[in-house]
Amino acid sequence: MLRQKQVKSVLNKHKKRDAWFLDDYSVNPYEGCSCNCLYCYIRGSKYGENMEEGLTVKVNSLEVLDKQLAARARKNQYGFVAVGSGTDAYIRHEENLRMTEGMLRLLLKHRFPVFISTKCTLIKRDVDLLKEIDKAAILPADLSTLLPGGVILSVSVSTVDENISNMLEPGAAVPQERFDLLKELKEEGFLTGVNAIPLLPYISDTEEEMDKIIAAASQSGADYILAGGLTLFGREPADSKTLFYKFLERYDASLLPRYEQLYGGNFYAPISYQDELKEKSGRLCRKHRIRNSILK
Ligand code: SF4
Repeated sequence: MLRQKQVKSVLNKHKKRDAWFLDDYSVNPYEGCSCNCLYCYIRGSKYGENMEEGLTVKVNSLEVLDKQLAARARKNQYGFVAVGSGTDAYIRHEENLRMTEGMLRLLLKHRFPVFISTKCTLIKRDVDLLKEIDKAAILPADLSTLLPGGVILSVSVSTVDENISNMLEPGAAVPQERFDLLKELKEEGFLTGVNAIPLLPYISDTEEEMDKIIAAASQSGADYILAGGLTLFGREPADSKTLFYKFLERYDASLLPRYEQLYGGNFYAPISYQDELKEKSGRLCRKHRIRNSILK
């Protein structure tokens, strides 16, 4: 069941710009997410619950956002706004509720640039609106000569394996549909790429599997690939570490001790693992002639 809530603020200003996605702000029309990824960082982290049954719509968020954007625009505080940082902006409820669409209309009205990462094909509905934003947005001065327009669109992919995706991301489009989506968005003229986040240790972070993801991204016309590791939070029944370890029991129980060793009591893998992932993704990106950052 979809819950409703009133909010006093909906535009979050980051302390500093996100180094990967370039956003200075984020907005979330919903709490929770119908993609229901078992590994979702919201489950068990300080960012709160992410069960579909707890899904909530911020009913007055358009009115609040209009005022907050107007205030920022008056002070010339333009910056990329990530639409859907704690939820997918195009969850299945968006088809009827159109809260994301309403937010995009306000971002166009106040001329803010937009970053969206999605696993859902519903974004195609808003292509014309996104094109208007792409042309009209005012970029922060230091980015204005580095980017072709005011919209950056990523599709998020953790594996090309449909079976694994069905188990881990039951409410998202299957990986091939996401690559097809990427191709369509690129053909519409947007700056587009793949967020290969999270890559799954010993499953989709191997040389062979990462090569498949990066090759598919390159063939779909992606401008960039952003590769990142898996975080696993908490030990409660609905937390991501618990749910992911249950998935491992079904998928390949021999991986459990390797994960226990990699994560121990932490929610992240050690720096040595992350360095290795970075080196591997950099090397594979060079092989496929695709950059590993949004900026050139
Ligand atoms: S799409 Fe993103 S926000 Fe939604 S459940 Fe998956 S990881 Fe979480």
